[in-house]
Amino acid sequence: MAETLEGLDFESLGERLVADGVNRVHALPLFQSLHGRDGVRFPPPLARWMAGRAADERVVAEESALTESGDGWTRKFLLRLRDGAEVESVLMGYPGRFTACLSTQVGCAMGCVFCATGQMGFRRHLEAGEIVAQAHHVTRSSEQLFGERVRNLVMMGMGEPLHNFDSTVRALDILTDTRGLNIGPARVSISTVGHVPGIRRLARHPKRYTLAVSLHGASDEERSKLIPVNRRWPLAELLDAIREFAEIRRQRVLVAWTLIGGVNDDRGTAERLTALLEGLPVQVNLIPLNPTDGYAGEVSPGERVHEFQRTLQQGGLPATVRQRRGIDVDAGCGQLRARSGAQ
Ligand code: SF4
Repeated sequence: MAETLEGLDFESLGERLVADGVNRVHALPLFQSLHGRDGVRFPPPLARWMAGRAADERVVAEESALTESGDGWTRKFLLRLRDGAEVESVLMGYPGRFTACLSTQVGCAMGCVFCATGQMGFRRHLEAGEIVAQAHHVTRSSEQLFGERVRNLVMMGMGEPLHNFDSTVRALDILTDTRGLNIGPARVSISTVGHVPGIRRLARHPKRYTLAVSLHGASDEERSKLIPVNRRWPLAELLDAIREFAEIRRQRVLVAWTLIGGVNDDRGTAERLTALLEGLPVQVNLIPLNPTDGYAGEVSPGERVHEFQRTLQQGGLPATVRQRRGIDVDAGCGQLRARSGAQ
């Protein structure tokens, strides 16, 4: 399939017009209109060119299902792509803060044992336009439902974003372009289970996106049981890549830790995690296991969660506990995600 117009960055869009004999100057109104500016006027040559485009050069994602959290603030969309594959995108609302969670692949090759997407196996990478289209779908929904723009993006839907580096980063560069949706790069978080070559590439990318690494285990033995790709990129290599990212970017890295009762929520694990991360500029985000996930792990009692947090803090590690909102439709890579019927 050819890349859709939404998946072309500003320069490529200009080249596309020039290849069809249209003046490059018309790339600006075209880009603005593709990326959410209302009331953009098309000069006649551009209007003629657009009229000649097949519908599927633009329309790449249609909503096929929608679920809503009990509190109404979180919506999960199942979006059907041009080839019939379906991916999930999520709108996570909070007064004053609206976030879109996007998918980057159909299925996933990483095989994390707690994750329904991982158990599907890998089907294909998403194109940049398919990632951009998800963002537009979620942001339109946010404006219709809450009258609020989406200002934050988290790449933690289906798939490992850094395994699909080129399309993911191109989509984000488009979504953060000031001529379009204009999301601030610092408000974009890329979540990985530890794709080391991707972390090293991202460190050298011109835009400063936030990196979030899911750890979940404080030794190779523990971590490999939950995240099999730890065998390919073991902890020592991963921590090295995190250090390199932080040094090049002069930027703190987020570490996500899903607390699973009786597996990785005890004081000894917290102490080993503190020792492991000593000296690294990281912030730990503790995520209590979602009880609705299709994984037989146990939920950590509240007191365990707070003791784990206290142990990290006493060891000098900044640590927060993620508030679970919209728990009944939760989704996410690096968390434990419950899926409903996606292909
Ligand atoms: S948690 Fe993320 S990286 Fe792991 S299998 Fe699921 S989608 Fe893939």
